[in-house]
Amino acid sequence: MKKIQNYINGQFLSALSKNYKNNSSPITGKIYSKFPDSDHEDIDKAVMAAKKAFPKWKSLGKKGRYNLLMSLADMLDENFDKFVEAESYDNGKPEWIARSVDIPRVSENFRFFATASLHFSSECHEMDGKAFNYTIREPIGVAGCISPWNLPIYLLTWKIAPALAAGNTVVAKPSEITPMTAYLFSKIVHKSNIPNGVINIVHGLGEKAGEALTKHPDVPVISFTGGSNTGKKININCASLFKKLSLELGGKNPSIIFNDANFNEALNISLKSAFSNQGQICLCGSRIFVQSKIYDKFKTAFVEKTKKLTVGNPKNKVDLGAIVSKAHMNKIINYIQLAQDEGGTILTGGNRIRFEGDLREGYFIEPTVIENLDYKCIVNQEEIFGPVVTIMPFENEDDVIKMANATKYGLSASIFTSNVSKAHRMSSKINSGIIWINSWMMRDLRIPFGGMKDSGIGREGGFNSLRFFTETKNICVKI
Ligand code: NDP
Repeated sequence: MKKIQNYINGQFLSALSKNYKNNSSPITGKIYSKFPDSDHEDIDKAVMAAKKAFPKWKSLGKKGRYNLLMSLADMLDENFDKFVEAESYDNGKPEWIARSVDIPRVSENFRFFATASLHFSSECHEMDGKAFNYTIREPIGVAGCISPWNLPIYLLTWKIAPALAAGNTVVAKPSEITPMTAYLFSKIVHKSNIPNGVINIVHGLGEKAGEALTKHPDVPVISFTGGSNTGKKININCASLFKKLSLELGGKNPSIIFNDANFNEALNISLKSAFSNQGQICLCGSRIFVQSKIYDKFKTAFVEKTKKLTVGNPKNKVDLGAIVSKAHMNKIINYIQLAQDEGGTILTGGNRIRFEGDLREGYFIEPTVIENLDYKCIVNQEEIFGPVVTIMPFENEDDVIKMANATKYGLSASIFTSNVSKAHRMSSKINSGIIWINSWMMRDLRIPFGGMKDSGIGREGGFNSLRFFTETKNICVKI
């Protein structure tokens, strides 16, 4: 059976404890590889390597790092198909999604941030001829990067790339649930000219390896993407050590459809926003609010379209693949049950799907639409992170703003209307870090990406990431 290894200081290593954990594919439910059950000793070894590699990496300068990162991006592209297959098998997502969304972003992350670092500049504050202040932004040291399982290598490299481009070295901890593409990535790093110790990947459990990284005194900066409860724990760990911290957390995002929206556009986009990647994207629109005049027509069309979505073997051109793990599948099924206990009506879906043959033990769930739930009920408050949406009518702008803002989250929102003034008015009143008008998940890597309230702290993307991964120093020069 394939054994995934840690990658520390240019070497492939098992955990110091020699312990491994099983890794299974959600498509078959079967164990197909093992990953190191690393702990604080492995993290410490990786941090020491990254610390040692830091001065040299920093001294390469922007152009030196740019050259190495661009050539790494080319090598990643040469292995494109391997990544697609591995990501789909490990995570359960349809291969076409890995091919069109996840894997193209891996090399793009490196090219984007390598290039951005060449354009990164700082300010000068002139004091009426008496003095001037120039501000410099220097790399910090060892950056800790922790990522979730929903977009495994896409999100891991979204952190590693800016950390490196800004001149830091990295210790990264991928999700234990989807470790395979991070391992493939380390194999390619190994063949590249990136010096040993600059990129270290340590596999293992969040509460063990992940926590050790957040508590390590020689890791002054942590970038984390994951659930809000985990984010809260990490926030506490980092606070006492005064670490720089970026938290990209959960969402319970509203899709708001007004009477005057382009009906088909709103229908197709909100469907995509509900069920893409099995509903396992932090940006998914999981609460759909439809204005009362078109509510019945929209609901009927949405349910019809949902029924036509295909679920099945991720190798085929299906709309939905498998849910990432058994535990997560059961969590989603429990929420569907809770929705019924809370008075909801299942309009379509609601069940696990059992296929014949190799997929029999796979974790597949029907895309599910639920009606008749109060906007304050648990199912409308907590992040389900699966192919489950609720649909609710609203009367007017005030009504829907109240409902849309009524959760602890504030990551993203989509607003569908043909009235430009209304779109701007609504945008100013929705408490989310990201708002899409008549669209969803149109991503520009330069924009500030992140959420309000329990959806996170800080913004990533473009120069925001480079500012995050650097320390600011102001120098005042008397004239
Ligand atoms: P988790 O919070 O469970 O895990 C995220 C990462 O943190 C994993 O690598 C996990 O390791 C690790 N981890 C777990 N516990 C700790 C700890 N105590 N200290 C340090 N690290 C720890 O999230 P999921 O993997 O379940 O991902 C889903 C969540 O991620 C959803 O809430 C989703 O909304 C959010 N997300 C947010 C995004 C955003 O940009 N705002 C984007 C994508 C997802 P392990 O897997 O081994 O437990």
